[in-house]
Amino acid sequence: MNTSSTPSDFLRTIISRDLAQGNISDVVVRFPPEPNGYLHIGHAKSSTLNFGLAAEYGGRCHLRFDDTNPETEDQIYVDSIKQDLRWLGFDWGEHEYYASDYFETLFEWACQLINKGLAYVDDSQENLIRLMRGGVTTPGVHSEFRDRSPEENLELFHAMRSGEFQDGSRVLRAKIDMSHPNMKMRDPLMYRIRHATHYRQGDQWCIYPFYDWAHGQSDAIEGVTHSICTLEFSTNRILYDWYLDALEISARPRQYEFARLNLDYHVTSKRRLISLVQEHVVDGWSDPRMPTLAGLRRRGVRPEAIRSFCQSIGTTRVDSSHHPSLLDHHIREDLNHLAPRIHCVQDPLPVTLSNWPNDHVESLSAPYWPHDIPREGSRTLPFSGELFIERGDFSEDPPKGFKRLTPGGIVRLRHAYMIRCTNVEKDDHGHVTRLVCEWIEGTQSGTKDSDLKPKGTIHWVDVHNSSEAIVRVYQQLLSVPSVEDDLWSSLNPFSLIEHRHARMEPSVTQDSLDQRYQFVRLGYYWRDGTCADSEKPIFNCIVALRDSSVKKDASSQPSQTQVVKDKTLQKKSTADQRPLTPNEEQWLRRSGLNRAVGLAIYGVSEAVAFFDAASASAPRVSVGNWMANHLLPALKDQSISDLPFGPNEFAELVQLADREIGSAHEIRETLKRMFDTGEHPAVLLSTIQESFVSDPETLKEIALEVLHEYEDRVEAYANGKVGLLGFFIGQVMRRVHGHANPKLIQEIVSQELARMTS
Ligand code: ATP
Ligand code: MG
Repeated sequence: MNTSSTPSDFLRTIISRDLAQGNISDVVVRFPPEPNGYLHIGHAKSSTLNFGLAAEYGGRCHLRFDDTNPETEDQIYVDSIKQDLRWLGFDWGEHEYYASDYFETLFEWACQLINKGLAYVDDSQENLIRLMRGGVTTPGVHSEFRDRSPEENLELFHAMRSGEFQDGSRVLRAKIDMSHPNMKMRDPLMYRIRHATHYRQGDQWCIYPFYDWAHGQSDAIEGVTHSICTLEFSTNRILYDWYLDALEISARPRQYEFARLNLDYHVTSKRRLISLVQEHVVDGWSDPRMPTLAGLRRRGVRPEAIRSFCQSIGTTRVDSSHHPSLLDHHIREDLNHLAPRIHCVQDPLPVTLSNWPNDHVESLSAPYWPHDIPREGSRTLPFSGELFIERGDFSEDPPKGFKRLTPGGIVRLRHAYMIRCTNVEKDDHGHVTRLVCEWIEGTQSGTKDSDLKPKGTIHWVDVHNSSEAIVRVYQQLLSVPSVEDDLWSSLNPFSLIEHRHARMEPSVTQDSLDQRYQFVRLGYYWRDGTCADSEKPIFNCIVALRDSSVKKDASSQPSQTQVVKDKTLQKKSTADQRPLTPNEEQWLRRSGLNRAVGLAIYGVSEAVAFFDAASASAPRVSVGNWMANHLLPALKDQSISDLPFGPNEFAELVQLADREIGSAHEIRETLKRMFDTGEHPAVLLSTIQESFVSDPETLKEIALEVLHEYEDRVEAYANGKVGLLGFFIGQVMRRVHGHANPKLIQEIVSQELARMTS
């Protein structure tokens, strides 16, 4: 029970009030995933919130599969979602529900609305229906079928159900108000015809309810009290209430919205995650680079860390995006007291101690835990005078401040002796192959201080007493905070770095397979269970010790001996490398922008001030990217002060893009119109989204975008898979939100395909 007197966020305030006023006696919430993909970190936020509320208030949280779309849903996803939620630590007891199990009730309720004259069957084409909805500034138009009698509607609706009509030939609509200022209320669709097999209901149904019709009613059926969803559903709330009112349902669920969780440098859209999987950019849904729960689990992250991250960011109504370092922080906090410290050399460089007694192997005792963690336990490190150190821990030509081994320099080997580098051996290409060092007797770790001052302490393993392992180090999947124009050019080519010849100290072989370690000076690691049968063990880096140590340390860049996956992604340009002026450097540091973007802005008069003003209300990096890539190039010979809009309007546009309220194409079009009219971006965008695309040039542009994105499918098409034509048309249709004539699209797509494949 939540007994604290001041609830910690707006939802808790509402729930506490509802309980105190006796509006409800028990708190019932639900987590409603659609089984069309794996759960990601955003879903972790939503499930932590809902299951957390249920636990705090002694209520319950239902798991409801929102499975009303037969075309994309699958039992595989149901199973994965249940597995992931259990792993996160949530328990829904017997409260596992499926919206598709309510299809019969929903059907009966729809009949009730028909009888009350509140719903009708419309024979108009879906495209025409969209067109007739009007725009933000223009009212909609009544369909010619709007005034059918309840008897006729009922008969038609039953005929729809019994499969008498083709897909798309008719819909059931609520009869509300075609000039309502909220577009959602302009006779919204309740049912569509889809002759498709549902993964759970089989072929029992060929009409399927839309989200708005299914969701609130499912909440009501289950006795949900607080139906919590993300902000983009704010405009649906009025419809949610209208349906419940129309059905005269007394025990009322209420919808509340909170801001979705976005994580910079990660994709949290299922659609995009699916394409990464389908295009084999990643090794399936559980690739450790994926922000899916399956991916985080395989990387070695524990559910405790994910829950504490989700709790720490709180629940608000303001959209924001979090830097992944915040998640990393919670992962480290979780592992710090759990992971014994051991030695692993990721990128080994051999070191021979020239004065070490022949054949002598010393057994050094090394504690597993640092001083600040008062815990017992140690292991033995054999030391034979033939060692490996990290290649990055030696520099022949050290930069200023280099605190590791240099020619003639001294370092301490952790838990062992000090050594001095006396000779550097190289191959014909000048590549360092071995260091010859001098063992400094009497400097064993823990003995009395000598006068020698080592440059630093480095880790090592013994050549003869260590084993080989493959170590995989992951960085963010995106090289930019949020996907810009297209996903593929935003991917980070170095998201996976594989060290194929890493060496581990011998103690590891005796440990259990799921032991998590801190590899001293590197990060937290564990064994990748999915590859347990490979001849060498594979270790995943769960998280590096510190962000800065990874970025600054040259050894984290791939070297010759390391294998970098995703060769196809290594298209990044290595632009302009001239030295920067001090002012430019200062600006880049201050703005936090990357070099190319930062310099593009710095070079244009008034652009810095515009950037500063816009980034007060939108994420800086997105503002920078949109300015450098779209706004500034479009200026031509205009100056910034000539623009018919200011930084605030621009920031609003960036937000629309960041929240994926519009597609890249639509946002670019919005910007173009802002140049012409100076009108508000949100208004322009909704006009664009509501308008029917009939301009063949625009459709051609979109068709080309699609065909280039799916080049491999174009090739398959050329090789005889002509059925893919439908796929391409569907993709174009999606990008115009169905607001175009499919015939025209088909013509244009066929034309472009013919051109590309001839
Ligand atoms: P996507 O848009 O990425 O496909 P979704 O909302 O369609 O996600 P659902 O399976 O419908 O995915 O989501 C289940 C629940 O999780 C919903 O209540 C949804 O609002 C919530 N949710 C989804 N993504 C996020 C997120 N990024 N942050 C917080 N909650 C989220
Ligand atoms: Mg959804």
